[in-house]
Amino acid sequence: MNLPSNLLPSYSLRERNTLGFTVLAQMAVPITTPSQIPEAIAFAKDQGLPYQVLGGGSNVVLPIQLSGLTLLMDMDVIEVVQNNVAGVQLRTAAGVNWHHFVGWTLDHGYGGLENLALIPGTVGAAPIQNIGAYGVEVKDYVEHVEAFDCESMQWVKLYQSDCQFSYRNSIFKVNPSRYVISTIVFNLPHIWQPRITYADLQSYFANRSIDSIKANDIFTAVCTIRSQKLPDPKVIGNVGSFFQNPIVSNSHLLTLKEQYPKIVSYTESTTHSKLAAGWLIDQCGFKGMQSGAVGVHDKQALVLTHRGNGSALELLALAKTIQGAVKERFGVDLVIEPVVYK
Ligand code: FAD
Ligand code: NAP
Repeated sequence: MNLPSNLLPSYSLRERNTLGFTVLAQMAVPITTPSQIPEAIAFAKDQGLPYQVLGGGSNVVLPIQLSGLTLLMDMDVIEVVQNNVAGVQLRTAAGVNWHHFVGWTLDHGYGGLENLALIPGTVGAAPIQNIGAYGVEVKDYVEHVEAFDCESMQWVKLYQSDCQFSYRNSIFKVNPSRYVISTIVFNLPHIWQPRITYADLQSYFANRSIDSIKANDIFTAVCTIRSQKLPDPKVIGNVGSFFQNPIVSNSHLLTLKEQYPKIVSYTESTTHSKLAAGWLIDQCGFKGMQSGAVGVHDKQALVLTHRGNGSALELLALAKTIQGAVKERFGVDLVIEPVVYK
């Protein structure tokens, strides 16, 4: 088996993880065309090397040394497949920057993705945890995903219903290392309506009539709100929310409400409710705290931060302390949202 021609030995991923940790990949290979994916995977398997896929590194916690072969998803093409009375279908390569893609859709007059503006990372990673913000999830716009199945060593097409999308989850997240996504085909219907149910968007548009709100206005609103509330990874390392919002049974919620009447919760189904993990962490006193190089963001306790010269070990130790405190006080398990590599 030949070495991939563009193999990069001992490659620094410092600029390719938004926590800003110092990370050295044993080997990395930039992927600029789909045909390089089977080649890279075959090479890794032949050499008995572990392999992993990296987009923008905004949802991973990486160790100092990342073993094996890291595929760097750099494919960068957006194409219109068809545009008819119902809507537009777009074919987008995995390496396209997500926020650039959202802006591109709006520049071309296609609404739908505006609530998902300013989410860092790549298009190819969007289905992994079914990215969501302000009441919108990417699954609603995915027609199909094209991926290389590293088990069967075949290209596969997974339609929306095959992807097992759920809250911040998918078939891709529960089968790590199985699929390398090369392309996503999106359907954006021309029929459009604003979704501004979240309090921050409600306040932003408080003085506007709903009929006057356009997709571009929501894009601007989301960018403004997020810039005020979330740390910019270029300045303070972070991966956004460090924990998922826990889903608890309604009976558990009732018990919690007796003791904590102000607990923040949202109906998830007839039997279950979602708790705001940030509120639970805040109540345990962690908001704004700093422990060496790592800490908890002062405007949103769900975001853990890294301010330089720290490591995954320190961050995960802080996460464990927070998980313990939340469990002890509320009896709720917090699950880490980003993918942690050992
Ligand atoms: P990476 O971090 O590179 O990878 C994440 C996982 O996906 C890894 O397991 C990787 O192997 C896998 N992966 C990546 N690309 C591929 C591919 N092509 N094929 C197969 N597997 C792949 N998330 C939200 O859902 N909503 C938000 O509002 C949100 N806000 C954020 C705000 C900030 C400031 C930050 C730093 C993060 C935020 N995130 C949010 C998390 C993150 O941006 C998303 O999960 C994003 O989709 C990750 O993209 P990425 O390219 O950086 O993925
Ligand atoms: P927020 O608006 O302060 O809300 C706090 C939490 O309550 C959110 O996690 C959100 O759940 C939930 N929530 C608020 N209003 C809701 C409603 N009307 N219906 C259902 N759930 C509601 O949150 P924020 O921190 O400023 O973030 C704003 C949005 O960006 C959220 O959707 C959040 O998920 C997303 N975001 C995600 C990440 C990430 O890394 N995953 C990072 C930053 C922001 P949901 O999280 O389920 O929406």
